[in-house]
Amino acid sequence: MVIDFHTHNFPDALASRAVESMLARLEGRLLPVGDGTAATQLMDMARFRVDRAVVCPVATKPAQFRHILDRAKAVAAGGEGKEPARRFVQLASLHPADPDVSAHAREIADAGVRGVKLHPYCQGFRLDDPGVFPFFAVLRDAGLFAMAHCGGDPGFPNAPMCCGPNEVAVLLKAVPGLVFVAAHLGGVNGNPPHATDVLLPFENCFIDTAVLTPDETNPEARRVAAEWPADRMLFGSDYFWRDAAHVADWLRECRPDAADQEKIFHANAERLLGL
Ligand SMILES: [Zn+2]
Repeated sequence: MVIDFHTHNFPDALASRAVESMLARLEGRLLPVGDGTAATQLMDMARFRVDRAVVCPVATKPAQFRHILDRAKAVAAGGEGKEPARRFVQLASLHPADPDVSAHAREIADAGVRGVKLHPYCQGFRLDDPGVFPFFAVLRDAGLFAMAHCGGDPGFPNAPMCCGPNEVAVLLKAVPGLVFVAAHLGGVNGNPPHATDVLLPFENCFIDTAVLTPDETNPEARRVAAEWPADRMLFGSDYFWRDAAHVADWLRECRPDAADQEKIFHANAERLLGL
């Protein structure tokens, strides 16, 4: 069983427009392997031997919370077909500027969705801003995990670091008990070697393995993938941007231990998602 904890797709009506606008911002720094549709993702999952995929949408405006949660419910109920219902686990998303965040967080939890995806660059906030601590406390109190893009993003090459390991650490100190998934190996990209070590003491801090560099030559990425505690690590590829089979092969090479692989490739994800 392989669960890819970090993937993206869009509703069919939005996919080409959404992918095009992201490509324009990226200016070739990252080239996709998929087209952003669920149908292509299902075919690629079969090819990559990925059984289930966590789909991570981001509410770039507070109002998008509704569309994203509606789709999560529809997919789970089979509204997009039997295969999507079986294979996809849709996360919800909330915007830190949402004026109704408590009610919305409860709605997400009531819908059986376990976590929300956030993207500080796309949503315009810093993880270490005290102004967002109450927002994260609401997520915690609703029993939701927060999963955030961490580290530099090739779509925002000139933006100051707002979601690296140090910023995550400030947040987790301020909101104890928050279950947090620090995507992209805890924010390796754009931060000095060993920066992610600051997150090791936080028992509720997971990382995913969506390494952003297509050739995985970054020695720090390899070090983190090899050394991070297996109990708190989730295989994630960032499909449709990356080839999930390639990331999985790289990760198996970094973590040859079979017991570690069991945890990283599905058991931790099953625990977090309540599967
Ligand atoms: Zn992503």
